[in-house]
Amino acid sequence: MEFIDLKTQYRELRKSINERIQAVLDHGQYIMGPEVQELERRLAEYTGAVHCISVASGTEALLISLMAIGVEPGDEVITTAFSFIATAEVIALLGAKPVFVDIEPDSCNIDVDLIEGKITSKTRAIIPVALYGKPADMDRINAIANKHGVVIIEDAAQSLGATYKGRKSANLSTIGCTSFFPSKPLGCYGDGGAIFTSDDELAQVMREIRVHGQSRRYVHSRIGVGGRMDTLQCAVLLAKLERFDWELEQRRKIGALYDELFGNRVWRIRQHSECESTFAQYTIGLEDRETVQAALREREIPTAVHYPVPIPLQPAYAQFCSQDQFPVSVDMARKVISLPMGPYMQPNEVRYIAESVLSQIRY
Ligand SMILES: *Cc1c(COP(=O)(O)O)cnc(C)c1O
Repeated sequence: MEFIDLKTQYRELRKSINERIQAVLDHGQYIMGPEVQELERRLAEYTGAVHCISVASGTEALLISLMAIGVEPGDEVITTAFSFIATAEVIALLGAKPVFVDIEPDSCNIDVDLIEGKITSKTRAIIPVALYGKPADMDRINAIANKHGVVIIEDAAQSLGATYKGRKSANLSTIGCTSFFPSKPLGCYGDGGAIFTSDDELAQVMREIRVHGQSRRYVHSRIGVGGRMDTLQCAVLLAKLERFDWELEQRRKIGALYDELFGNRVWRIRQHSECESTFAQYTIGLEDRETVQAALREREIPTAVHYPVPIPLQPAYAQFCSQDQFPVSVDMARKVISLPMGPYMQPNEVRYIAESVLSQIRY
C-alpha cells in the first residue's frame, strides 16, 4: 500500500500524459510554451477567478503574492500556527514579521475569533490555510480584512478543487495560492504552483514579478524572481485535469467511508455541509500516536504526521513570539496522524486501515 498512489494514476492516464509530454518535446518551447497559457486559462475557468498565474511552486506563489501587495521589512502578516512551514517562511523571507494565531480544534484551521486581537497598524495581510483541503471560514476572515483594510491571501496549496459555500477554494479572497507538488490533490511531476486573483492590476504585477520584475524585455520595473512554471509540468497537469473532478469525487467517497468507520471513536477533522474538502490528507488525532503508527507499519500501512511541530515552536521561528500562546496547535501536533488517501483507493483497503487503527485504541 502507498501513502499516496501516483503509480495507479499514471497507469490510468498514461496515454494522455504521454501525448501531452510528447507534444512539448516536439514543439520545444520549454519555457512559457502554449501549454502554460492553456493551463492558466483552464484553471482560471475552473476556480472562477479572472486570472491564473502559473509559478514555480506553491511557496513561490505565496512569495510573489506578498511581494505584489508590497510587504516590506517591518510589516506584519498574520497566519496560522499550524501549517506547512512555507506559509510562514515567505513572510520572514521578506523581512516581515509572521504573527501566529492558534487553531480551532475541529478543523485545525486558523481560529477566526483570535485574528482581530492580533491586528495592528503594521498588519498588511492575513494568510489563512485550507489545512488538509478544507477551507477556513473565509466569509468571516474576509469581513475582518475589509474592516481593517488588509489583504487576504488564501493558502490553497492543499485545497484546489475544494468548495466553500459553493465557491471554489483559491477564489475565496483577493488572492489564492496553490501548489502542484506531486502529492497534492492536483500534482505535476516536479514543482509547480499557481496564483489566482480577479484584480487586474495585481495580476499584472504578479506576472512581472514572476519574470524578474520585467515589464518589457530587458526592462526591469521592479525587483522580481525567477518564478515560472515550466511547460512540461503544465502539460502533465492538463492531462490530469481531465480526471480531476472524478478524482475529487472518489477522494470524498474515501473520506466519507473513513468518517463512517471511525464514527465517534477517534478524533477526526469535522466536515461541514457548507464546505467540500479535497481530502488532501485524511487526518485523525490519537493519544498514543507512536504506538498506532508502529502497529500500522507492521501491517505495511504507511502514515505521515502533518505536522509534528507548530511553526512558532520551530527553532528558526521562535524569535517572533513567545511559545506559550498556541495550546491547541501544540496539542494537535502531538496527536495528528494522516492515513493513506487517494482517488484510486479501494473500500476494502480503507476498511483494513480503519480496523487496524481501531484495534489499537484502548480508551
Ligand atoms: C505544499 C504546501 C505549500 C508549499 O507548496 P510547494 O509547492 O511545495 O512549494 C505551502 N503551503 C501549504 C499549506 C502546503 O501544503
